[in-house]
Amino acid sequence: MTGLDALKARVAGAKLGPEAEETGTVTRIADGLTEIAGLPEAQAGEILIFGTGARAFVQNLDADAVQAALLDPMDGIEAGSTVRRSGQLLSVPVGEGLFGRVVDPLGRPLDGLGPVQATEFLETERPAPDIIERDFVDEPVETGLLVVDALFAVGRGQRELIIGERQTGKTSIALDAILNQTGSDMVCIYVAIGQRTTAVRRVIEAVRDRGPFVRTIFVVAPASAEPGLRWLAPFAATTMAEWVRDRGGHALIVYDDLTKHAAVHRELALLSRQPPGREAYPGDIFYLHARLLERSAKLSPARGGGSLTALPIAEIEAGNLSAYIPTNLISISDGQIVTSAQLFAANQRPAVDIGLSVSRVGGKAQWGALKAVSGRVRLDYAQYLEMKMFARFGGFGDAAMKARLARGERIGALLAQPRFEPLPTPVQIALLAGLDQGLLDGVSLPAIAALKQALIPLIAAEPALAAFRARPAKLDDAARAALIGCLRQALARGPA
Ligand code: ATP
Ligand code: MG
Repeated sequence: MTGLDALKARVAGAKLGPEAEETGTVTRIADGLTEIAGLPEAQAGEILIFGTGARAFVQNLDADAVQAALLDPMDGIEAGSTVRRSGQLLSVPVGEGLFGRVVDPLGRPLDGLGPVQATEFLETERPAPDIIERDFVDEPVETGLLVVDALFAVGRGQRELIIGERQTGKTSIALDAILNQTGSDMVCIYVAIGQRTTAVRRVIEAVRDRGPFVRTIFVVAPASAEPGLRWLAPFAATTMAEWVRDRGGHALIVYDDLTKHAAVHRELALLSRQPPGREAYPGDIFYLHARLLERSAKLSPARGGGSLTALPIAEIEAGNLSAYIPTNLISISDGQIVTSAQLFAANQRPAVDIGLSVSRVGGKAQWGALKAVSGRVRLDYAQYLEMKMFARFGGFGDAAMKARLARGERIGALLAQPRFEPLPTPVQIALLAGLDQGLLDGVSLPAIAALKQALIPLIAAEPALAAFRARPAKLDDAARAALIGCLRQALARGPA
């Protein structure tokens, strides 16, 4: 029998169950990947169990061997060790028992709070909803970041990539979006893949101290975890999020980050001697991430109307957005928020590059009232940035030009936002409406920063805005007048 015939026979005859040949022998083990002979019926994604109790899952099927990635330490496993099939595909616990917990990709506790109370287990590889089961993305995920909500709005069910160089505030943007879900109906899932434990701990502590901790699930596979666990993390976490989505709920998942996930996929593929493709990644890397991100969706009313929104994070080097993994991820998401090392170095926070960022759902998912006041902001700001370059050479002294430069500076001051200081949507609307009416033109830039915080309690307490705060669907005259009233009040008080 040729290798191909053997492979065909295996695919044709593959079945889970007692008639399958049950045990195999380890022929090779290295860096978290084992090669096993004698399991002709094993299936991709099936759990295998070693004599030591350690588990692995089938990552790759060859004609005469299977490769399995370890989920537990490899101590005590060597060439010649026996392996047994479990007949079960990879699955994870789902349900409310995970809320407020820190777990590994198999749902095992990492927070010392004992086992997760799970009522149900679901497989980690699940099909994405069909087109017919989906609905249009038309409700916003409010991130509390003015630059995102006003210019690159994210809708429920959307996949918006956060991409940029190292240490440019990518995680902070996603973290702020999670923190802003305090009091909302959103369940958050933060997936840490291949990161330093200290960095992960900082995120967990921020959510615990100031965010919706009891409605957040942390799925953590740090750099020190077995490659199999790091590989599994985004899939397992998505299954946990789908449980929320499929019951009509709303979930927000942050993958931090998929560049590191691509790296572990490459690591496993090279260990299992798959042919390397572009930049040494195996040929299926695009399909792998497309399959993952397709599971984020807004479901139709018939399917309960739930949603899963994804904020995948990706790292680039030297501003190179056209490298292999970044272009893949850009093409399978619905837009990208690009952070820039230059802007970060120039102290702009968040360091979002307005020109390179885009949301392909954007306006359709934005609150109507926010849309009404944010339409021109991006263009005005882009023109300001260009003008500023020329103004540096001097000579453009006319009054109209000066006014536009002053307006642009004020837009910049509105877009700047320290982390952990989310702005409620009505506050964003008031600021942009005031900008539009020229009320901010005479206000100094530091005073604008102070104004934002002063506005929050005023708008929250304004009785005329009660209905508007709950649903800022449109900006009628009454709402506009009340918002501008609050803004004038805050301005009159002056800097605190
Ligand atoms: P890495 O590439 O290491 O994952 P990153 O791009 O995720 O980094 P962050 O960890 O979010 O970047 O931020 C880097 C640093 O910048 C952090 O120390 C954070 O405190 C600071 N920072 C980020 N955003 C803001 C902000 N809006 N205001 C103030 N500080 C910020
Ligand atoms: Mg980060």
